[in-house]
Amino acid sequence: MTKFKLVSADVIKCLSCGRCTGYCPASRVSDYNIRHILNRVLDGDTSVLTDSLIWLCFICGTCIVKCPQEGLWPPKIIQNLREYALNKGHGAWAVAHLIPAVDNFFKYGAVLKGIFPVSPKAIEEINKLGELTGMKAILEKRKKLVEESKE
Ligand code: SF4
Ligand code: SF4
Repeated sequence: MTKFKLVSADVIKCLSCGRCTGYCPASRVSDYNIRHILNRVLDGDTSVLTDSLIWLCFICGTCIVKCPQEGLWPPKIIQNLREYALNKGHGAWAVAHLIPAVDNFFKYGAVLKGIFPVSPKAIEEINKLGELTGMKAILEKRKKLVEESKE
């Protein structure tokens, strides 16, 4: 648990009841099992960070509604695990395909170039917001990670 304290302290509330997995759409189409992943986090199993399974959650939120434990949000824990994994240099393959879309968003104001007209002023504001929120810095970090993973 200590190794994962940044993931979410709420994970300790998990009863391992399995309701989340029972209703999880990702579990129906893959080997993804949120209950198992939470158990691994609780066990301090760091191999979960390099496991491709953490990228299979749809972040749909169904498990939040079904979980009997107030404030335990499995997709938030998954998002944090992904962030944690990326910051440790894992999972470049999972974000590589998103980079051109985010790049386009800052260049053209839309994820696809020319999909609709965006004024230069609006693009300037998008970029300012990207800087203020740290999104542009994250984009550059992810680009670097993807580049390094190709070397
Ligand atoms: S439903 Fe909630 S308490 Fe039960 S296993 Fe899933 S996350 Fe844990
Ligand atoms: S948010 Fe993820 S873990 Fe929760 S039900 Fe949806 S796909 Fe499953």
